[in-house]
Amino acid sequence: MRRRNQKKRCLQSGRRNGIISINYRKPDIIVVGGGPAGSYAAWTAAENGLSCWLLEEHTAIGLPRHDPGWLIDTAFTEQLADRIKENLRIRRMSAFRVRDPFTGEVREEIPGGGYIVRRDLLERELAIRAANAGTRILLKTRCTGFLKENGRVIGVKTDREDLPELRAEVVICADGLHSARDGRAAGEITAGENLDFGSGVNLELANLKDAEPGTVELYLAAADRDLNYKHLVVHEEGQCFLSFSSLSNFEEFKKRTDNILSEKLRRAQCLDVGGYLSRRHSGLFFKTLVKDGVIFIGDASGGGGAIHGMIQGQLAVGVAARAIEKNDSSLNILSRYQDLVRDTFQGALFYWFFVRKNYGTFTDWIERMRNIRVPEV
Ligand SMILES: Cc1cc2nc3c(=O)[nH]c(=O)nc-3n(C[C@H](O)[C@H](O)[C@H](O)COP(=O)(O)OP(=O)(O)OC[C@H]3O[C@@H](n4cnc5c(N)ncnc54)[C@H](O)[C@@H]3O)c2cc1C
Repeated sequence: MRRRNQKKRCLQSGRRNGIISINYRKPDIIVVGGGPAGSYAAWTAAENGLSCWLLEEHTAIGLPRHDPGWLIDTAFTEQLADRIKENLRIRRMSAFRVRDPFTGEVREEIPGGGYIVRRDLLERELAIRAANAGTRILLKTRCTGFLKENGRVIGVKTDREDLPELRAEVVICADGLHSARDGRAAGEITAGENLDFGSGVNLELANLKDAEPGTVELYLAAADRDLNYKHLVVHEEGQCFLSFSSLSNFEEFKKRTDNILSEKLRRAQCLDVGGYLSRRHSGLFFKTLVKDGVIFIGDASGGGGAIHGMIQGQLAVGVAARAIEKNDSSLNILSRYQDLVRDTFQGALFYWFFVRKNYGTFTDWIERMRNIRVPEV
């Protein structure tokens, strides 16, 4: 991506409908959502000389924590780890194991498997990098809709009295699964898509027994809902993250005596409980990823996985930079992003619940992830 000099843009401020709005220069890019996809996109934009604003509805970047922090094994992940490891504990995995929960038999043992990191701290680090490179971060700023002109997105509406409207050359929408369910993406791109949502809790646990730090252990038991697809992301000695349907189901599950996972968790203590939203078909991108003036990335685009979202962020910024250079952010120019996403992830989707069905084994799936190459844009 060619770096460009920040150029001054006209002031967009003053009194509108009796509301005083704060002064700002129209940025090149507005990113909605400070998750991994959005924070990484903001970092990429700012370090390539684009002026960028990052809007996050919560009072902190990284919280509530979204997932257990396993990062898939790609060349991109390797480079990312290299760039941030000075400031953040990011642990190279020793193995990804698929186990039979009843016999304990290891069905697949995949050496390596990626990295493990605390998701909240990763997002925070990405946002620090973005801010240091010049991104303006607005917390407690919820995007409530798109600003449009002749059907084209020219900015966003927010819930802030002092900033009810914000304009930009390109909007990058990274507001996650909520967007796909009832927010921006739902209004713009998901009509007719298969939306099947669920929810549960992400647990941080201590006093886990017999689990190796720096590993992911995945349990498969198709006929047992409480066991199937349960995975321990083991960060440190005795400490892991695990997703479950609810805290009370987790406490009941610990008492079971018919499987090795309950045995490992028997004396585990919960340090943190956070909610999550999930989509069964997460990872299968929506048919449309771009509209006039707006690009969707990460879960908001139907995708899944933190690394996939960050790569999408990089591709989106590359395409947006070209559009801004040409002074044309129409669908015609932005649609290159859609092609790039499809080419980059062809056969390597983070379509987690369908790995066996689509790829046969986790070994094959992880190998496909390792072959993901991010094109220069
Ligand atoms: C149980 C579970 C376990 C998972 N485990 C893993 C794993 O180990 N590894 C992995 O790679 N992936 C995992 N995933 C998937 C991963 O969590 C998501 O794919 C990833 O979080 C998507 O990142 P994102 O930046 O697109 O969206 P999000 O992480 O959802 O971030 C969206 C951000 O936008 C903000 N936002 C939302 N709406 C607005 C608005 N209107 N205005 C302003 N801000 C807004 C939100 O507050 C949030 O900060 C897991 C998912 C689940 C449900």
